[in-house]
Amino acid sequence: MNYLDSRLREYLNKPGCPLCHLLREQDQKYLDSIFWEMVNDPELRTQLIRDGGLCADHLHLVFEERPSVLGIAILFRDLLIHHLQGELPDFGNIKCRLCVRDQEMEKKLCKALTKHWSEWKKQWGKYTFLCRKHSRLLPPEEKTSIEIHSFSEKALHEVLKLVSSFIEKFDYQKNYLPFSEFEKESWQYLLEFFASKPLSKTLRGGKIL
Ligand SMILES: [Zn+2]
Ligand SMILES: [Zn+2]
Repeated sequence: MNYLDSRLREYLNKPGCPLCHLLREQDQKYLDSIFWEMVNDPELRTQLIRDGGLCADHLHLVFEERPSVLGIAILFRDLLIHHLQGELPDFGNIKCRLCVRDQEMEKKLCKALTKHWSEWKKQWGKYTFLCRKHSRLLPPEEKTSIEIHSFSEKALHEVLKLVSSFIEKFDYQKNYLPFSEFEKESWQYLLEFFASKPLSKTLRGGKIL
């Protein structure tokens, strides 16, 4: 089993979409390598200019992660200079290298999930689901895909129960009841499912709500 497959297996018992979480982890690693190790790599700079930079979503990730502010300043100064010289592709023609990588990885991960499913399915967590985007990437009609969808659907019903209980506890007659750790996070699972990207922060042991 390769590294990526074994990471995927580890995400299978965690709440949320395992593909979204693994892609985010890999994006973060790649950003680190761009802004730390490759920042002075002339080939990378040329490629970034040819691509037109990164998409808005991945730029937002750069902002959140801020791997190296110096690396960001150097690479994006370069992009600005080329923009001012009219040498960047139009905004509509940006070919974000992280998006390209994600798409390739998504295909591989879906293949790995179906390939190892009979061995991995016992790992599937109570609140583990495939988000709207990633559930569409499994090969349709295949027996394994149908079973994965049913596991995911079952987990979404559990999320529904969880979030309903979370809402109920705001009722003044019930607000003496404590929130469970998963209830505190439940509203984030909803966002993640609809956004198809990790929008959950583990609050366990931290501040609630
Ligand atoms: Zn996903
Ligand atoms: Zn992108």
